[in-house]
Amino acid sequence: MDLNKIGKFIAEQRKAKDLTQVKLAELLNVSEKTISKWECGNGFPDTSLILPLCEALDITANELLSGKVLLNDEYKTSAEQNLIELKSAQEKSTKHLLTLEIVIGYLATFAFLITIFAASFAVNNLVWRIVLIVFGCVNMIIGVLFTLKIEKDAGLYECANCHHKYIPTYKAVLWSMHMGRTRYMKCPKCSKRTWNKKTIK
Ligand SMILES: [Zn+2]
Repeated sequence: MDLNKIGKFIAEQRKAKDLTQVKLAELLNVSEKTISKWECGNGFPDTSLILPLCEALDITANELLSGKVLLNDEYKTSAEQNLIELKSAQEKSTKHLLTLEIVIGYLATFAFLITIFAASFAVNNLVWRIVLIVFGCVNMIIGVLFTLKIEKDAGLYECANCHHKYIPTYKAVLWSMHMGRTRYMKCPKCSKRTWNKKTIK
């Protein structure tokens, strides 16, 4: 998938439709910055936005992924290749997100330990101790919430009972028991509570 080519194509088609970045952003319910990111080749629309974007620009998903207007016979040959490339690009970005989750987790824990250490040994003033401890705890909570958000969004959870793959609600992820990334959650399809494994496919 050539993000630069796709970005230029999005910009071209947007201008051909007489849409500003702001207007297109409004239509898709995203920020103007997001549109500009796509057009500069620094990102690709989330799966859920592909069809609305194509509709707004009056192009097919296949053309979007190819980064050009397709003729009839070109159309069929590129469809399969585009699907495969999209899938592998998504898997790559999921892997990146999960790595980011680990990094943020460690950083938040490290910062928490440093502030608690400083509060216990390096600061004598009681007020400053309390400030440091509160700061450390708030930082830890934000870190945990943020990593959970990434974990919820990256990849899918697979039900151990019916093997249905899904994205759970943030609340379900927050309150579920877990061992690593395997979480005890209720499947939205069969409603059974099982240990749901994280899968990136
Ligand atoms: Zn299930």
